[in-house]
Amino acid sequence: MTSIDNLIANTIREDVRAGYSYNVPDSSGYIKLDAMENPYQLPDTLRAELAQRLADAVLNRYPVPSYAGIKERIRAKLGVPAGFDVILGNGSDEIISILCTATARQDKRAVVLAPIPAFVMFQRSAQFAGMDFVGVPLKADFSLDRAAMLAAIAEHKPALVFLAYPNNPTGNLYDEADMVAIIEALGENGIAVADEAYHPFARTSFMDKLPQYPNLVVMRTLSKLGLAGIRLGYLAAAPALLEQFDKVRPPYNVNVLTQVAAEFALDHVEVLDEQAARLNEARTELAAAMAALPGVTVFPSSANFITLRVPDAEKTCAKLFAERVLIKNLSRMHELLANCIRVTVSTPEENSVFLNALKASLQA
Ligand SMILES: *Cc1c(COP(=O)(O)O)cnc(C)c1O
Repeated sequence: MTSIDNLIANTIREDVRAGYSYNVPDSSGYIKLDAMENPYQLPDTLRAELAQRLADAVLNRYPVPSYAGIKERIRAKLGVPAGFDVILGNGSDEIISILCTATARQDKRAVVLAPIPAFVMFQRSAQFAGMDFVGVPLKADFSLDRAAMLAAIAEHKPALVFLAYPNNPTGNLYDEADMVAIIEALGENGIAVADEAYHPFARTSFMDKLPQYPNLVVMRTLSKLGLAGIRLGYLAAAPALLEQFDKVRPPYNVNVLTQVAAEFALDHVEVLDEQAARLNEARTELAAAMAALPGVTVFPSSANFITLRVPDAEKTCAKLFAERVLIKNLSRMHELLANCIRVTVSTPEENSVFLNALKASLQA
């Protein structure tokens, strides 16, 4: 008789057997401030119109693989420079995986490098592609340690360097001159990925630097803008580079429903931009209210979340959980994040429930 345990031991990679699935807690009944989602839906009139478009979607056919409709809208509306193009992913998570798969050379040590703490998928995707991951600690104020980054690049010769701009989980924008120094140091030996998942909130970008640096690629997503459910990410780069990445992209990776919804949303992108502007105002208010609390340090954010340090993150998270508010405890992620928590900026009502629970958690 075949033992399932023996089967797993004989077939599944050791690092996979030792690892964990990406953990997403069940959130029903909770105020969900742990995943950087936009709390607002599309207005009712637009939702009705979208429903009609979705009803007309051709579900019995594979997607048209050129995805020309979405790509045209991204190029036209999202600032892709002339002569540059995009490829699409099932979320930018899939783009990260595509970048790793394409660069995981077998004939020499292939390395992914990123400042840490960073978005966890950089390390996970590198590992799954069989690459080594090198993390270079940020400084205590979460800025890039330029000298350490340049030394690590010289030592490890990474094929890919991920720079989240702004960074998750810290929320800050890196210094532009530090980023440029890294891009230039990589030159023709490595690809610099500007991960601009929070571009709708940061409103600053490396997109216009694409023509200057052939080894720069810019990755974005519609998730944080308000469409996390449809799963659409994109990568802007020189067409010759995209041609290589496209070879490892699974065919039909963006489904027909996503295609229809994304085209519709991009036709009305000003509605989503207006929601992002509202969330930016709420971020300013929430940050100021938290900074006034005793023992709380609020770190500057250019994203739709705020990272803060509290006296006792365990206690604060337990209190918030008891008040049915989900946030992220960052304490165990990295020593730079001791007693840090991350909260997504939401509606005025949800922000105020959060703020009151936070205050309560700070009392003895
Ligand atoms: C949320 C996030 C992503 C992933 O976005 P999806 O498009 O939803 O897969 C990528 N990078 C960073 C830094 C993020 O915070």
